[in-house]
Amino acid sequence: AAAAYRPLDPAGLLCERRRHFAGNLRLSYAEPCTLLRGWRHYLFDEWGRAYLDAYNNVPHVGHAHPRLQAVAAQQLRMLNTNTRYLHPAQIAFAHELLAKLPPSLSVCFFVNSGSEANELALRLARAATGGRDMITIDHGYHGHTTGAIDISAYKFNHPAGSGKPDWVQVVLAPDPYRGPYGNDGERYATAIDAALERIAARGGRLAGFIAETFPSVAGQIIPPPGYLAAVYRRIRAAGGVCIADEVQTGLGRLGTHYWAFETQGVVPDIVVLGKPLGNGHPIGAVITTAEIARAFDNGIEFFSTFGGSTLSCVIGREVLRIIDEEGLMAHAAQIGGELLAGLRDLQQRHAIIGDVRGMGLFIGVELVTDRATRAPATAAASYLKERLRAERVLIGTEGPFDNVLKIRPPLTFDRAALEVFLDRCDAILSESFLARQG
Ligand code: PMP
Repeated sequence: AAAAYRPLDPAGLLCERRRHFAGNLRLSYAEPCTLLRGWRHYLFDEWGRAYLDAYNNVPHVGHAHPRLQAVAAQQLRMLNTNTRYLHPAQIAFAHELLAKLPPSLSVCFFVNSGSEANELALRLARAATGGRDMITIDHGYHGHTTGAIDISAYKFNHPAGSGKPDWVQVVLAPDPYRGPYGNDGERYATAIDAALERIAARGGRLAGFIAETFPSVAGQIIPPPGYLAAVYRRIRAAGGVCIADEVQTGLGRLGTHYWAFETQGVVPDIVVLGKPLGNGHPIGAVITTAEIARAFDNGIEFFSTFGGSTLSCVIGREVLRIIDEEGLMAHAAQIGGELLAGLRDLQQRHAIIGDVRGMGLFIGVELVTDRATRAPATAAASYLKERLRAERVLIGTEGPFDNVLKIRPPLTFDRAALEVFLDRCDAILSESFLARQG
């Protein structure tokens, strides 16, 4: 079989992939894409055909950004080493990141991924409180490592998952569209009281609360106003710390705010970052208070071989600068607003669109077979995703019923992209398969 393999033959690539990788390393789409180049919010396949990228939130400032190519190449020519030596790039990256955060968050840990950052956040919470128990939102996702899976209801509650650990309590997602309390943030937060009672009943001790500030895996949810303030108040009163996983929502994607927690008027004790921070280069970060960092500093060395490498610091700092210098946050507000308006216009004409929600370029479109019962249109969401792929437009689907279109493009997404995107969605939603579902 190896003799038949040709590097640019997708069928050969697929065959070799099946031989050498596990089956649960999933591919997107019934007909997978072979992608060889990227540029801003476009990807190009083996024929050089362009795909509109309305899905990938890692290439935050755009695929193959020239400034990142330049600083990475230059740094690789000079030096790439670890945090056991002094280097100005480490301090510069920390300064520029901390400048974006509230002053109480003053200590950085640099790691290599969102999962690793959440593992560390767990250790920090436990060190700071002496507790072990965690409270987390239903259908949340915090990473693929052992500890991160333990706090990811999306994974442990899977039929093949290992189930909820006894030290984890799950609370209802604050979903204004599907949840029982509509837009009443305070009422969703009362689920914390019951979770605290369960911890007390088992003789546990609270370490903290962790949530994706806007639950993405649970379906691009924008929590109601007041939700996190009410949660944080309860967690802190019970002696816990509050962890905001901003892996999906941070760095200006929301347009009006650099971080999602700001929209909720709260300041977390620990912030977790990943994905967009390196624009594709693996960078995770945990930022916390001096007090929590002191509690963690118990004599055992903290060291990550690649975390905070010279190269990572140079790239992370450049990403932050590009966001500012290209005005990408304001751009996300503008284009995201237009995209939401366009999608709401589609909602007027296509009954299958039950809900359109989002901020900036963090957008969810929930498909339903019946607007009154809100019955999820899972098959239709999958059909739309596959049809968009055939039109060379990339999106994802998400949520407990996999019926929410996940739209979170690179922040370079522009009006031309938006017009193509809405036009293709409109055409496909008019196709008989979907028209019958709605
Ligand atoms: N937290 C959130 C909210 C995520 O979306 C992800 C990745 N999808 C992670 C953590 C884990 O990050 P990584 O895949 O970089 O380990």
